[in-house]
Amino acid sequence: MSIYLFNSMGRRLEEFKSLKKNKVSLYTCGPTVYNYAHIGNLRTYIFEDILKRVLSYNGYKVKHVMNITDVGHLTDDADDGEDKMEKGSNREGKTAWEIADFYTHEFRADMADLNIIPPYIYCRATDHIPEQIKLIKKLEKKGFTYTTSDGVYFDTSKLKDYGKLANLQNQDLRAGVRIDVGDKKNSTDFALWKLSPKLQKRQMEWKSPWGVGFPGWHIECSAMATKYLGQPFDIHCGGVDHIPVHHTNEIAQSEAAFDKPLSNYWMHGEFLLMGSDKMAKSGDNFVTLRTLKEKGISPLAYRFLLLQTHYRKQLAFSWEALEAGKSGLSHLYQASKKLLKKEEFLKSATKEKIEGEKNIIETFRKNINDDLNISGALGLVWEAVKSNSISIDTLLKFDEVLGLNIKNEINKKEAPLPTEIQSLITKRDEARINKDWAQSDQLRQQLEALGYQVEDSKEGTKLTKK
Ligand code: AMP
Ligand code: ZN
Repeated sequence: MSIYLFNSMGRRLEEFKSLKKNKVSLYTCGPTVYNYAHIGNLRTYIFEDILKRVLSYNGYKVKHVMNITDVGHLTDDADDGEDKMEKGSNREGKTAWEIADFYTHEFRADMADLNIIPPYIYCRATDHIPEQIKLIKKLEKKGFTYTTSDGVYFDTSKLKDYGKLANLQNQDLRAGVRIDVGDKKNSTDFALWKLSPKLQKRQMEWKSPWGVGFPGWHIECSAMATKYLGQPFDIHCGGVDHIPVHHTNEIAQSEAAFDKPLSNYWMHGEFLLMGSDKMAKSGDNFVTLRTLKEKGISPLAYRFLLLQTHYRKQLAFSWEALEAGKSGLSHLYQASKKLLKKEEFLKSATKEKIEGEKNIIETFRKNINDDLNISGALGLVWEAVKSNSISIDTLLKFDEVLGLNIKNEINKKEAPLPTEIQSLITKRDEARINKDWAQSDQLRQQLEALGYQVEDSKEGTKLTKK
């Protein structure tokens, strides 16, 4: 079955065709490790995880590379301001290297908590300085660069189609049109190599043919993506904020260097909003996964919440929605426990029910292959589980895409009920045998007040935690 993906390059839905049969090369921009990732950042990584899982579900082997930005990302995307790593170092009184190690570790823990499949390679910008210098030298040789008092810049006027990803109207952004460009020739030109300030020793700096300094933020991704995946590779992802600057510049320098596309498909996840603004690390009001956990909301409940909104739609954060995600996931887990194993399902089900399951499997795949319509797929799964229309084996197969760890939950042994509760159940079952409905109702209310949902079955009173 074909997979359709929305390609930001050209802004249209396209049938996905990989470069190599049954294989996908995927590059996703990773975190800048000067602080905890916030749950907005994590939304983007979950979207990328879903993409990867959908490709695997369709039989592709995915080679996934993610960078760790541990140098060169300045507080202002337009090559000004402080290096975010040095900012973290000043904030916490640790070295920039310690900051990078600590937040990389925390980031990987967040990824594991969210059941995100780790990439084939995590690569750090600081481990790839020679590759970045080599790429800049290539661009210099081909005449795409110029030097200013503070670094080496890419001359965007040398490319006819600069800004094609974002559909930038180049002319308006050029020098002299209301924008202060400093020493740059054009406002859209960007740093490939920044020189360390003359009177200041930076914590992270390296020798280069242009002087001691550090690489610009964009060059790391171009150099590392091509090193591990070649050029072009299949899919490049990130958040939508990367379209106008970071990815536009990756494309400019990589295409200028090698005269071919960097990636065949570009996919971007929309923002998680805080109020009406993008949740941002530089803002005060960002929420991390640790805060969620402290409030008793599991990372998978957050994942469950995200699955209900398409990755190309903005999502406004709220604690109420998170609470709803928590209870929705818990209901899904509870209902999953009631499903039959495949053999029992096939033995006990009617022909129509068996056909019905086949249809559900097909509709599930149609949904996920339609530009990752996970909310559609999840709605379908939920209905199927509630109405016992699929076997547990089918559900677990679906969960390879959803990533909700359902297997773990259904295999968990239930903790025995407290004796007080057990005795209320016994009393209620006796009342029901004696057809004492008033007593039975009163005991139901008592159990509900203690936090249980009460259900009547052939075997007697059944409880699930609310
Ligand atoms: P950073 O660590 O700032 O480089 O960002 C890491 C990833 O998170 C990038 O792909 C960003 O595009 C993405 N991102 C940043 N803020 C948000 C947000 N509020 N919602 C969703 N994704 C975001
Ligand atoms: Zn990148």
